[in-house]
Amino acid sequence: MKGHVLRTAVIVFHLLSYVTTAHALELTTAYTTIIYENEDLLRKFNRGISLGSLSFMLRNKKSVTPEDEVKNKVDVVVERVENILDMRPRDLKFRIALLASDNDVQKIYETRHAKKVDYIAFYSPRDNTIYLSVDDISIRVLAHEMAHVVINRYFGVQPSARIHEVLAQFVESHLKD
Ligand SMILES: [Zn+2]
Repeated sequence: MKGHVLRTAVIVFHLLSYVTTAHALELTTAYTTIIYENEDLLRKFNRGISLGSLSFMLRNKKSVTPEDEVKNKVDVVVERVENILDMRPRDLKFRIALLASDNDVQKIYETRHAKKVDYIAFYSPRDNTIYLSVDDISIRVLAHEMAHVVINRYFGVQPSARIHEVLAQFVESHLKD
């Protein structure tokens, strides 16, 4: 058991160090800095976010490299979320940390909050970062977490956790209207 605890601690330390230090790769978009440990994570993230009927929103954007494609998609989703909520906080900037699996996401959450969860993604206002599993990513999951960011930044006094959730789900369900 001790061995397991130690191993978990080491993995979490590794995860936290790569999202908080200069060892990670970074991609800066208009609204975000995307942090990832290797190219494979970025590729999976890109594949996971399929805009579908929202692809028309990319019409004026040039995507030469896969990095361009990710940047353009992410910024388009941020703007879509802002439009659905009709909330446009000033100077919106936040981080997105790409993790390999839901297990990694949960380990980070559990370390921070000493609470077991089954999340595939979460937003941490404390370090202004969305942590997400590229294994489970979809445009809905991404938009949901971005909604938490936008709501968080829009209100001086935070609405209750329940209202946060209702609004984030509202964004998810109106994404493709
Ligand atoms: Zn939520």
